[in-house]
Amino acid sequence: MAEKLSAVKGMNDILPPESARWEWLEDKVRGLMARYAYRNVRTPILEHTQLFVRGLGEVTDIVEKEMYSFEDRLNGEHLTLRPENTAGLVRAVAEHSLLYDGGKRLYYMGPMFRHERPQRGRYRQFHQIGAEALGFAGPDVDAELILLADALWKELGLADVRLEINSLGQPAERRQHRAALIAYLEQHADLLDEDAKRRLHSNPLRILDTKNPAMQAMVEGAPRLIDFLGAESLAHFDGLKAMLEANGIAYRINPRLVRGLDYYNLSVFEFVTDRLGSQGTICAGGRYDDLIGQIGGKPAPAVGWAIGVERVLELVKEQGAAFDAPAPDAYAVVPDAAAFPAALKTLQVLRAAGVAVQMHAASADGLGSMKSQFKKADASGARHALVFGADELAAGEVTVKALRDGSGAQQRQPLADAAGWAGILKS
Ligand code: ATP
Ligand code: MG
Repeated sequence: MAEKLSAVKGMNDILPPESARWEWLEDKVRGLMARYAYRNVRTPILEHTQLFVRGLGEVTDIVEKEMYSFEDRLNGEHLTLRPENTAGLVRAVAEHSLLYDGGKRLYYMGPMFRHERPQRGRYRQFHQIGAEALGFAGPDVDAELILLADALWKELGLADVRLEINSLGQPAERRQHRAALIAYLEQHADLLDEDAKRRLHSNPLRILDTKNPAMQAMVEGAPRLIDFLGAESLAHFDGLKAMLEANGIAYRINPRLVRGLDYYNLSVFEFVTDRLGSQGTICAGGRYDDLIGQIGGKPAPAVGWAIGVERVLELVKEQGAAFDAPAPDAYAVVPDAAAFPAALKTLQVLRAAGVAVQMHAASADGLGSMKSQFKKADASGARHALVFGADELAAGEVTVKALRDGSGAQQRQPLADAAGWAGILKS
């Protein structure tokens, strides 16, 4: 036998029965997005590397070390597998002038790629669901997006999800804070680890996000950005807080919440849980009023969030709404291959009438005995078996047998009128 091939490290196959949980989540998201009037967007998985360098910032973790980038052998273009979808979405919005007649509410779902060390809740191919509102400036849309995420947690049956918010102010306010921060960190240079030293002048804000316990106390005492915010920024933040309070959404202000990407301003927020170990952030987002201009579009305000689907599904498994793996309504038992033409034809009519039917099919060893076919019918979870035996077919009929209600009740039904009795299979 040839040597077995395996998937790329950190990239997962999503298989039945687990894939049904993914579809269940995606259905819920589609329903919810429709109710908030967010419309679906699908951008390419490959983009020009420059989009992420300009969009995310050169000194971010993603651009510095996590991107899958390569040169196209055929034309030398520098391409990158998207590490996130906001930059691509904003590119598409600008490229197609989607904001020409006003703001837009958009959402996406799909795989993202980051070269990280794989561990629980952290993969190299992972999935995000994202919602973005573009062209709207006020804190009302920030609140709407947070309410949307909160509604999703409720629908998925998740408790123990906390909301943390912060304001990053505007670039000028950040520059003032940054100068004060660098001065403070330089005073404590002896406490900085290698990572922090490297970031001191490139991305000092990110040092506040450190997970190094030896730096915690020093970082706690650092100048806080919120103390550098002007009246307008504070008004935006107060507006958001008031709308959350009016809607009974509990939040904690986390002055150290800075987000990994350069493009955020004003509101930033995360939904976190303690149930997933150190990978506890299930949704992260904020306002990015400068991004559209940065990638060459006509400047417009924008805000959005992204959910880590793997992390949410792990939480669902642990504490979410009960989830029933899908089962067909009926399983077709086919004792002899001669019955297939009539069986297939009947099943098509039933399926067109909305019945889920699984047909027995031959393995390499053949069709198997009636007994083994009924075992398979049972294992499929179907409530009914349809028996296409020679006797039945000779009479132009099929036997419908109850598998789940304990009665074992049987009835004959005419093949020619499958649409007429399809309904009994759905109950
Ligand atoms: P972290 O600090 O955990 O690396 P991040 O700031 O890089 O997160 P974002 O870019 O904001 O994450 O992505 C939004 C969400 O996507 C995260 O909150 C998380 O739920 C999920 N996510 C990010 N990277 C991964 C990954 N490598 N594997 C699985 N999920 C991820
Ligand atoms: Mg990261």
